[in-house]
Amino acid sequence: MRTIKEAPLNSKTVLLRADYNVPLDDEGNITDDLRISSTLPTIEYILNGGAKLVICSHLGRPKGKPSPEFSLKAVAVALEKMLGEKVIFSDDDTVVGEKAKSDFQLLKNSDARVMLLQNTRFTPKEEENDPAFAKQLSAFGDIFVLDAFGCAHRAHASTVGLADYLPAYGGFLIEKEVKFLKDALEEPESPFTVVMGGSKVSDKITLITNLMSKADNILIGGAMAQTFLKSRGYNVGISKIEEDKLELAGQILEQADEMGVNIYLPVDVTGSSAFSNETPKALYTIDAIPDDFMALDIGEKTAQNYAKIILKSKTVVFNGPMGVFEMANYEQGTKKVIEAMADCDGVTVIGGGDSASAVAQFGYSDKMTHISTGGGASLELLEGKVLPGVAILED
Ligand code: ADP
Ligand code: MG
Repeated sequence: MRTIKEAPLNSKTVLLRADYNVPLDDEGNITDDLRISSTLPTIEYILNGGAKLVICSHLGRPKGKPSPEFSLKAVAVALEKMLGEKVIFSDDDTVVGEKAKSDFQLLKNSDARVMLLQNTRFTPKEEENDPAFAKQLSAFGDIFVLDAFGCAHRAHASTVGLADYLPAYGGFLIEKEVKFLKDALEEPESPFTVVMGGSKVSDKITLITNLMSKADNILIGGAMAQTFLKSRGYNVGISKIEEDKLELAGQILEQADEMGVNIYLPVDVTGSSAFSNETPKALYTIDAIPDDFMALDIGEKTAQNYAKIILKSKTVVFNGPMGVFEMANYEQGTKKVIEAMADCDGVTVIGGGDSASAVAQFGYSDKMTHISTGGGASLELLEGKVLPGVAILED
């Protein structure tokens, strides 16, 4: 993969595609600026290399039309504060029109070094990957740096189309994601353990099948565990399961046996009579689940067993919480497993938005080798798919 370390920067203008799709509250304030701060290493590297910088991004879903609530103005203000220098915000609803062009001249002919274009999704041409729009965008740089990992699975004008008109390089964020979600898993150091949970088997089928050929251990938790347990003939009461995936779940377990992968299901679960933190909590071994019981977390014994396996692993990938960690009564399983990953000496990788939130909630974010920032994009990389945004950076 070509990265900015190979890019000629001095006296150039770099067009950077960032992922500034930040969460906003009702008043339009940014509630979490992590997506902005995490681009600083790439931005600083580019500026220190002697280049000027034009940044573009999408924000929200304005459906191809200019829409003030999705303006990148607030991002420009936040970025200016973080960088401690002027950021020219080009408030041009057509993204690449006359206003943007005159701002671009201002950037070139002043001391300012950074400019931010308006939301690329203010035009439908962005998501259509319209070549004419990509060409217009390409006029804002000599080289193209893609660092929007969260959008790398989408072939849009500003993520993929630009590479037809400018030499393309990956930024530090995308480089790190590819290193840990793709390269590190091509030949993972063994024992390689995959911890999988979350709400649905159907979300994770391709992931399981892809990682099964490489993993030594697959530890299953979350709601999906009940679908697997039921496919083995256990009574799971009123637990959330996918009836139409029972057969597939059974096939996956068989396939794992044939391939010699150790696939683990819970031996005990905690839960209640309803999807609630208020109704009484109970613990059952999986052969004794009553008819009116809903499993909401893995049990103590299961968590201990999973933790033991994780501690002995050299590579661990976590995708999907072990229980409803948003409820205090049912956070234990996820917490134990994440603690074990924090203590593990091997490479530890977190994929999935809710999984990353769980790690942050328990305070272990800085103990992991890598926490992916991309939801859909990280899942697709882990599934072994080729992401269009990564493909343009490879020869
Ligand atoms: P990620 O975003 O990390 O990929 P998912 O979106 O697949 O994870 O799943 C996360 C959700 O799964 C959480 O909101 C959690 O509450 C839910 N979940 C986990 N275990 C259970 C369970 N036993 N019953 C119902 N929901 C569950
Ligand atoms: Mg999720």
